Amino acid sequence: MASKEELNPFKIAQKQLDKAAEIMKLDPGIHAVLREPMRELHVSIPVKMDDGTVKVFKGFRVQYNDARGPCKGGIRFHPEETIDTVRALAAWMTWKTAVVNIPLGGGKGGVVCNPKEMSAGELERLSRGYIDQVGRILGPEKDIPAPDVYTNPQIMAWMADEFAKLKGYYVPGVITGKPVEIGGSEGRGDATARGAYYTIREAAKKLNLDLKNATFAVQGFGNAGQFIAKILGEAGAKLIAVSDSKGGVINRDGLDPERLIDYKLKNGTVVDFPGTSAITNKELLELDVDILCPSALENQLTKENAPHVKAKIIAELANGPTTPEADEIFFERGIFVIPDFLCNAGGVTVSYFEVVQNIYNFYWDLPTVHEMLDKKMTKAFWDVDKAAEEYKVDPRTAAYIVAVNRVAEAIRLRGIA
Ligand code: NAD
Repeated sequence: MASKEELNPFKIAQKQLDKAAEIMKLDPGIHAVLREPMRELHVSIPVKMDDGTVKVFKGFRVQYNDARGPCKGGIRFHPEETIDTVRALAAWMTWKTAVVNIPLGGGKGGVVCNPKEMSAGELERLSRGYIDQVGRILGPEKDIPAPDVYTNPQIMAWMADEFAKLKGYYVPGVITGKPVEIGGSEGRGDATARGAYYTIREAAKKLNLDLKNATFAVQGFGNAGQFIAKILGEAGAKLIAVSDSKGGVINRDGLDPERLIDYKLKNGTVVDFPGTSAITNKELLELDVDILCPSALENQLTKENAPHVKAKIIAELANGPTTPEADEIFFERGIFVIPDFLCNAGGVTVSYFEVVQNIYNFYWDLPTVHEMLDKKMTKAFWDVDKAAEEYKVDPRTAAYIVAVNRVAEAIRLRGIA
C-alpha cells in the first residue's frame, strides 16, 4: 500500500514538477519559486445552523502563482478537504492556465464541510461567510474563484452577491461558473467535459482509434462525469459503466447517459439503475474499455491497480487521479494518459471567456464559445504532444514542460528582486 506521505497531493504535485524541471533543465531559482505557493489564507467561518447553534468551519484560499495574470481556480466543499489538497490543486491550476495559454495564474479554495448534510440555508450562509473572510484577496484583477467538487452555480451566485455587498456594486468578473442570468457564460456548465472531449478526440486520432466503435467507463458522476458520458455518447462511443461515491453500475450492451443523469438527479446515486449489475469503483477502473474517464477525486489509479488497467486512453477529468508510480506503469505499458491539467482545462478556459465577457459586458452565443474552446484545447493537446516527442517523455511530463516553460518565462521577464 502507498503511504499517506506518498499520497499527499501536494507532495505529488511537487514531485511532478521536480521531474519536469530536471528534464527541461529549469533554472534552480525559478524552480524554487514554483515549488511553493505564493500566498495562502486560512480562515474560520462561523455559521448559524438551522437549529440555532453556531458551527465554525475551516476554509482556505491558496494563490499559487500570478506571474501570467490573476490567480484562478475553484472552491471545493468537502469533509476531507486539507490545505495540502488545496495547495496541489492551486499548483495544477497554474499549469492548467499556462498549458492552454490563457493569461491567468493559479489558485484554489476549499472549505472543510459536508454539504450533503447541510440545508440550503446553511450552505448559503457558509458561502457568504467564506466571501466575508476571503473577499479581501479576491477580484477580477487579483484572484477569481469558480465551482469545483460539491459547489455549483447557485453557490457562485451567493458568493458573487456577497462580494457585491463588500464592494458596494456588482462585480460579475470576481467569480465564474455563475448562472447565465447574472453574467455566466453560455457553455460553462459542460465546459470541463467538452474540453476533455476535444482532447480525447485528438488522442483518438493519434492512436487511430475510431470513437464510434469505442467503449468507455466513467468514475464519478457529477458535473465532469455526467457531461463526459453525454458528450462522448453523442460522438458515438458506448458507455459501459459508471460509478459515484455510493457504488457503480455496468451493462456491457451500453448505458443511456441521459436516462442515467435523470436517475441520478432523482435518486442521488447511479446505484440500482434498472437493467444493470452492480460494480465497485475498484472494478470499474480495471474494466476492458477503450477509454477510462476518472472524474471523481485524487489517487484513484495507483501502483496497485495500474498493472491491471486495460483502457487504451485514460482521460483525466478529475484532478490528480493518478499517482506518479502509476504514471510510470502506464507509460511503460503504452497506455495513453491525457493528463488532468490538460484534459480538464476546458472549465477554466470557458471561465476565462466568462471573465472577458463580464469585463466587456458583451456576451457570446454558444457556437462561438464551443469554437473558441475547441481551438484552445486542440492547440494545447498538440503543443503537449510535440513536447512529448521532442523530450521522449510521458504526456504529463510533456504538459509540465510546456506549462512550466511559459510560467518560468513570465517570471524571468518580470524579474525577481
Ligand atoms: P461533482 O461534485 O459535481 O461530482 C463529484 C462526483 O464524484 C460525484 O458523483 C460523487 O459521487 C463522485 N465521487 C466522490 N467520491 C467518489 C469516490 N470515492 N468514488 C467514486 N465517485 C466518487 O464534482 P466535479 O465538479 O464533477 O469534479 C470532479 C473532478 O473533476 C474533481 O477532481 C474536480 O477537481 C475535477 N474538475 C472539475 C471541474 C469542473 O468544472 N467542475 C473542472 C476541472 C476539474
